[in-house]
Amino acid sequence: MQTKYRKLSFLTDIPGMKTSLGDMLGIGFPRQPILNKKASLDTRKILFDEDWVIKTLAEKVARHPANSLEYPFQGEKIFEEPLVGFVRGDDPLFEDFKKVIGPFHFTPREIMAWQASKNGIPAPEPENISVVSFILPISKATRAENGRKDDWPSERWAQTRRSGEIFSQTIVQEIVKTLMDAGVLAVAPDMTPMFNFKKHPGVGWASPWSHRHVAYAAGLGTFGMNDLLITEKGSAHRCGSFVASIRLRPNRERNENMHAHCLQYQGIPCLKCQQRCPVQAVSESGHDKAVCGKRVIDSIKYCNRNYHIFIYGCGLCSTRIPCENSIPKELRELPSSGHREQLAL
Ligand code: SF4
Ligand code: SF4
Repeated sequence: MQTKYRKLSFLTDIPGMKTSLGDMLGIGFPRQPILNKKASLDTRKILFDEDWVIKTLAEKVARHPANSLEYPFQGEKIFEEPLVGFVRGDDPLFEDFKKVIGPFHFTPREIMAWQASKNGIPAPEPENISVVSFILPISKATRAENGRKDDWPSERWAQTRRSGEIFSQTIVQEIVKTLMDAGVLAVAPDMTPMFNFKKHPGVGWASPWSHRHVAYAAGLGTFGMNDLLITEKGSAHRCGSFVASIRLRPNRERNENMHAHCLQYQGIPCLKCQQRCPVQAVSESGHDKAVCGKRVIDSIKYCNRNYHIFIYGCGLCSTRIPCENSIPKELRELPSSGHREQLAL
């Protein structure tokens, strides 16, 4: 962990550069773990159930040393207790994503077929695959600090974008390795060479695996005017997900209304996220990804100069808004925004 500011972060913040450029170019990811084909089938069934996944993620957020901000905020946690949801690999929504997001978006089977072929085994059937999605709520101090900014991200927010992404990828990598060591095929789609942001005709900049859409599929939230996912812990968070060849029962009810938790979409005038955006990337017609993306990339200079880290970020439209910390109270009681204990497989 860093105990003082970096000098010349444009050249010296290698982890920051890796996390910034890795997403965009699909490079610099760690080597994929190898499947242990000798592990026993019985062990898999006993160990890797829904409780194991939820407890493992919660434990890592609570105790992992990487869940920590750097100088001058050492000792402060980046994220609070996670929300976790599961989606079946054969959920038809993944085919819909090919229409909504684009044909380049992976289905769980496609990404697992890639991992299977790398390990010399047949691809698992979709009904034997599950997707684990998680939400990492950003700490109260970071949200409050970003809420006081009106132009560029605050220092804690910029660190969260950098070190929080590293933390999220680290814990997913650790879990994927644990599964692969035990003979369970697993993969983090955003850490494969196929993962990069590309400009697609008629779609704009998009990645082949959207953590946010996967979180929606898992019943973890619905979309706001700013395209962020509004969860029971609000929209100031980061999402992550991975795919595994185990059968996990979906534990949350998906809201069929993709915008059920957004005041504006539900006819209650709001657009506070629009007022927070310094470049008018949010309007009554929604979120302009191109304008937003340009502002976010422009912030690299600001973060380097002021915070001595190589990262981009913004997040102004996810703080100081009615859906920052929770579903707006006016919409909490609407039908099908709750949970159900366990849906049948
Ligand atoms: S701030 Fe208002 S309009 Fe924007 S996403 Fe939240 S609830 Fe919707
Ligand atoms: S993240 Fe994008 S949409 Fe949100 S405030 Fe920043 S530039 Fe505007």
